[in-house]
Amino acid sequence: MNRAKIFLGSECKSTQNYIEVKNPFNSNVVSSYPICTTSDVEMAYLKAKSASKETKKSPLHQRVSWLEDVANKLEEESEKFAKLICDEVGKPMIFARGEVNRCIETIRLSAHTMITISGESFDTTAMPSGKKTLAFFKRVPVGVALAITPFNFPLNLVAHKIAPALVSGNAVVLKPSSAAPLCAYSLAKLFIESPYAVKDALSVLYSGEGVNDALVTSKTPRVISFTGSVPVGNLITKRAGIKKIALELGGNAATFIDKSANLKDAAKKCAIGAFVNSGQVCISLQRIYVHVEVYDEFSKLLADESSKLVVGNPYDDKTFIGPMIDEDAVDKAKIWIANAKQEGAKVLFGGSNEGLVMEPTIMVDVKEDMNIVCQEVFAPIVSLIAKNDYEDALKSMNDSDFGLQYSIFTNNLATASKAIDDLDAGGVVINDIPTLRFDIQPYGGFKQSGIGKEGPKFAIEDDYTEVKSVVICS
Ligand code: NAP
Repeated sequence: MNRAKIFLGSECKSTQNYIEVKNPFNSNVVSSYPICTTSDVEMAYLKAKSASKETKKSPLHQRVSWLEDVANKLEEESEKFAKLICDEVGKPMIFARGEVNRCIETIRLSAHTMITISGESFDTTAMPSGKKTLAFFKRVPVGVALAITPFNFPLNLVAHKIAPALVSGNAVVLKPSSAAPLCAYSLAKLFIESPYAVKDALSVLYSGEGVNDALVTSKTPRVISFTGSVPVGNLITKRAGIKKIALELGGNAATFIDKSANLKDAAKKCAIGAFVNSGQVCISLQRIYVHVEVYDEFSKLLADESSKLVVGNPYDDKTFIGPMIDEDAVDKAKIWIANAKQEGAKVLFGGSNEGLVMEPTIMVDVKEDMNIVCQEVFAPIVSLIAKNDYEDALKSMNDSDFGLQYSIFTNNLATASKAIDDLDAGGVVINDIPTLRFDIQPYGGFKQSGIGKEGPKFAIEDDYTEVKSVVICS
């Protein structure tokens, strides 16, 4: 039996009660996790607080070797980890393998980035009121970080938090998604069992009564790094008290297809951006605004590209679209499609499901206030909307509570450079989908999509270190 276990610091705790996790495609039991209690939270924080005194003193070369060791082991076991992702969340194997590769890169990148991060000196005689000193600031670890992660990238998003946090000298308490406990546990185990590990620097807890609230309200963590939905992000913000809070939340990503764009290329990329991981990506392409003169041609091309995507068994190497995470997610998508149809929208392609596997679905004749357009749909559903010109599309794209990533397909340089300034989002992509993310980039949204940036350099600077100002007077 593949059991995720509690880590209270480096110590693995034995427990009696486990919750089973089933594969979303075939309902086989694939893992289980122990129910945690608020006393586990207290113990994990106690260990983390004490460990943070050691982590901050540990030499950087040790922490860099630590991450490199984990990345190497993950590389050796990459197929096992890809299967774990596919087991727990039903991500098709081709993309599960891709996530493992990205995770290895995220960990290596965190190690290499930390070597380049340092403080800065400045001249205190710049102001008439100043005097000659030696003044500088240095970056110091925050101490204890709480990391909370979602189900849709159950390995790489854990790495995006624990790798930069640990390499910058902190202790971490991790609370992964209940849908994918074994992915997180197995990665954490590599960190904890590494010969370079700092003892007790990493704890792993799971859900249980009062656990989330105890984790968030405790005064021990100096930072909470949360990736997940807007409602939970709101709850955390209300309960956290005085501490740094980094929020990587949802979105309803959009693109504009200009009449100058290469339509075939755009359609091919848009089919990927809308339907990869069954649309369960925070930057999944949900709204496609198309110049009215090329709308018909683009619609046909997109439907054609979508028809080529293999739907079904995620363990099959040819499958592009596997199951959604659970019944609730499928039901929500079906209700939103039905409501939109009642108000006049039409299904251009797809629209049905078999079990938890939903077909790639293209909606047309939609209104902008329909849920499938203005809310985060988090399902393989994309809406096509004709627009008279760029300005018209821009108004609709920015008229959203979210602002994670937007894109534009155009061969007009002036329109492209205007879009970079005009689009109200944390990321803008030209001539590709808004679903494009490189792990080295600063990544995070505007508006309700969150606060702060991930990407190792940015997470280390924004979340996991603080600036300490030093003045030496002679
Ligand atoms: P979720 O329901 O918000 O859960 C995320 C994490 O928060 C899970 O570990 C969950 O634990 C935990 N949680 C639930 N209630 C909590 C509370 N009251 N206090 C503290 N933690 C709590 O999100 P999800 O369904 O797993 O993931 C999908 C969402 O994440 C989408 O909205 C997506 O856009 C967003 N996302 C954003 C990014 C980004 O980088 N911007 C990346 C990926 C996903 P349990 O699993 O035990 O409930």
